[in-house]
Amino acid sequence: MSEFEARIRSLILRIILVTIIFDVISNIGLTIYYIVTDDLGSEISVYLSERIIMPTAINVLALIAAKRFNDSKKETAKSKYWACAMAFATVVGSLAVFQCYFPCLWTGPAIAMIFCSIFHDFKLIRVMFIYSMGIIALAYVFVVGDYPENMSFYMQCAIVSAIITVIAFLLANAMEEYARNVAKLNRENLEKEIELKRRLDFDPLTEVHSRGYMDLRGEEMLKNADRFNPVTVAIIDIDDFKQINDKYGHENGDKVLRTLGLLLNSLIDERHTIVGRYGGEEFLFIFEGGNINEHEALLDALRESFSLINYAFMGPTNNSCSFSGGITVTYERQHLDEVFKVADEALYIAKGKGKNNIVRK
Ligand code: GH3
Ligand code: MG
Ligand code: MG
Repeated sequence: MSEFEARIRSLILRIILVTIIFDVISNIGLTIYYIVTDDLGSEISVYLSERIIMPTAINVLALIAAKRFNDSKKETAKSKYWACAMAFATVVGSLAVFQCYFPCLWTGPAIAMIFCSIFHDFKLIRVMFIYSMGIIALAYVFVVGDYPENMSFYMQCAIVSAIITVIAFLLANAMEEYARNVAKLNRENLEKEIELKRRLDFDPLTEVHSRGYMDLRGEEMLKNADRFNPVTVAIIDIDDFKQINDKYGHENGDKVLRTLGLLLNSLIDERHTIVGRYGGEEFLFIFEGGNINEHEALLDALRESFSLINYAFMGPTNNSCSFSGGITVTYERQHLDEVFKVADEALYIAKGKGKNNIVRK
């Protein structure tokens, strides 16, 4: 349940309570006024039962029911708002029926309907529409029973009330339609935003992070680097990748890149390490904390695992690839490009030393 809906519900409960108090006080006052002015149209017991006791009893019951439903933890949100809405409608309805000398009250149920449309339920709006029409008819029958001579006036009142109810019904439907469209649009925008962020943060081919993500997160991680929180940076580069592309085609080259991406993702502890594609066949690692020896050992294990993978498209022999890597560590706040430069120099040395190895600098 949204905070907005919870607020509306407690507002409705408060409106019910205030309406009941107002109704009781005004009816007692009115009865006293009629007694004082000697203008009681009927027995005082009729005033007491029809004007005060009956509507108040119905309304108090409705209020208690709504409050119990709303407070109960067991009920579903749907049954709670139905109870709340119905209690609201009962109060408004009993006012309209028992006070049917005031035709303006007959439009009360329509107002209740608009209020209940807050609960986002088309069925509830329809039920309230039928209910409102019923109240108008009932109030008309009651008031014409009391004052048959004013029948045509009350008929006009009933027609106006019915028209107002139809307008309220259309309005409640339109409001609900609008609220649903806005909610749908918000949901779609959120999904798009998440998807966009995913596309920006990840490399679609290898499924490791993108260069942009590495630059951003890398700078953040390096900002916190100190003696107690060293940051290790490593760069790896597939050996003789151009030959693989030339010999087996670009598509097969992509397969090798993808295989490496999956391997890196499966063996990296994402809590302290980020890995991303930094160039064509180059991958960058940033390790936060820990020990460079461990990181170098991990990189070497990755190198070995990668070199043991066989690719069917390369044929039965000489069907594997390798990568070389450079690794370095910083114990102080630095920019990524500065640390990267050192790791890249180490990579260059590794390539010079015959490839398929890791060099620390
Ligand atoms: P070295 O061992 O010194 O790293 O040699 P190398 O052949 O790997 O290095 P070089 O930089 O000459 O070649 C890199 C190749 O990577 C060239 C380029 O066509 C290829 N490449 C870059 N991006 C992609 C890609 O997305 N897919 C494929 N299939 N190839 C790519
Ligand atoms: Mg390269
Ligand atoms: Mg290469």
